[in-house]
Parts: sequence; structure tokens; C-alpha cells
Amino acid sequence: MRKKIVAGNWKMNMTFEEGQILTSEIVNMYKDENIKDVVAILNPPFPHIFPVKKLVGDVSGVKIGAQNCSDKASGAFTGEVSAKILASFGVEYVIIGHSERREYFHEGNELLAVKVKEALAHGLKPIFCCGESLDIRTAGTHEPNVKFQLTESLFDLSPEDFSKVVIAYEPIWAIGTGKTATAEQAQEMHAALRRHIASKYGKDIAAETSILYGGSCNPKNAQEIFSKEDVDGGLIGGASLKSRDFMDIIKSF
Ligand code: PEP
Repeated sequence: MRKKIVAGNWKMNMTFEEGQILTSEIVNMYKDENIKDVVAILNPPFPHIFPVKKLVGDVSGVKIGAQNCSDKASGAFTGEVSAKILASFGVEYVIIGHSERREYFHEGNELLAVKVKEALAHGLKPIFCCGESLDIRTAGTHEPNVKFQLTESLFDLSPEDFSKVVIAYEPIWAIGTGKTATAEQAQEMHAALRRHIASKYGKDIAAETSILYGGSCNPKNAQEIFSKEDVDGGLIGGASLKSRDFMDIIKSF
């Protein structure tokens, strides 16, 4: 059975105090509301990682992720944070290839392939983001476009390494826009990506790969999207900054 996952991407939001309050609320609700079969991943900005981890404590279903890591192992790279450093702070997941990193920081498929390998080499599980722009969706070439992102950045991995990767399908036109893909559009792409994974790694690994949907997911639309066969959860931006909304999304399965 593949994992159900809801990951919150705080992006560049939350002061120290705000992050502590949000984390405490989420952890308390996760325990009080008896969540059992959904892994919640908090992906705060780097300075929050250590205090957030401390607050989460031993609540086993709540994990810590980073929003990025360096492609370099260590050394004179001012401002960068390596996978090795993240792992040493108890980080378990790292978002790689978010469309904002691709667009604003010019991260391409080749660089992302290096980051994925660096993360895996230090025991981090990559949450690999892929997705098409509105132009590509309008042109109808979204399926080959997104498959290509997987091929270029992931398909060099051994089957063992690939099975540690979580995929997040995030159509760029739906991120932070309030415009969600329909549940049918999400299902169609998730199924296509799963078939693509099966063509490279076989049906068993494909069936075990969690594929998350991201793009204006909220408590109102999550249930319909998560009800689709190939949707295994969500990568949540805006709605992850409000504890009740984030928990209601977790409870949408
Ligand atoms: C994201 O940034 O990954 C995201 C899905 O954002 P939002 O939920 O705000 O659209």
C-alpha cells in the first residue's frame, strides 16, 4: 500500500513565533483527532527546521522536510544548505524542483537530477515536483512535457533509490492562483505519470510510488481530488499556513 501524504510548503512565510504556534496547533490536532494513516510533512524555511522538529517530538506521523537543498556536498557555497546538513538535523524529506525554484532560480532538469541524487545519498526522501505551464496545457502537450521532467531528473536512479522518491504533480497554472485542476485532470496526469514510471521501473514500483497533487488545494476541494485512484495526497502551499485548513485537508481522505 502506497503512503498517503499531505505536505505543507510554508514557502518564505512565518516568523519564529508564528511557526511555533502553527506547528503546535498541527501537532495537537494530529494527536487529538487521531490521525493514523496519513503522513503529514511540514516543510518550513530552513531556520525553523530545528525548533519545529523539537516541537513535533515523537509524533511519528508528522515529519519534517526542507524546501530545497544544494546540489553540492559541502564547502565554500555561501548561503547554500546541503543535504548532509539537513539530514544531521533529522530532516527526512526535501522538496526538489518546485516550479518557483525552476522559474526564479533557473533550476533545470539536469541540476535537479544532481540534487535528487545528493538528497538520496544522505538518506533524504525527495518530494520531486513536476508540472506544466498554462501555455503547455493550452497547447495540449502537458503529458509528454511532464513525463520528460521525470525522465530527465529521475530515470537515472536505481530502482531502490527511485522507490524512495515522492512525486508531486503541480500544474503551474494552479499554484497560488486559486485555480485548481479538476479532479479528473489530476487523475489523468497522475495515471499517465504512474504508467510512465511503470514503463521504466515496472508495475510494482509504480504502484508503490506516492503521487501528490499540488495547486490551490484547500479543504473544500481536497476530498474530491483525493478520492481519485492515482492521487495519494497533496502538496499544499497557502492552505498549509492555517492549522485548521491543513488538518481538514489531511482529513479529506
Ligand atoms: C505549492 O506551492 O506547492 C502550492 C501547491 O501552492 P498553493 O497550494 O498555494 O497553490
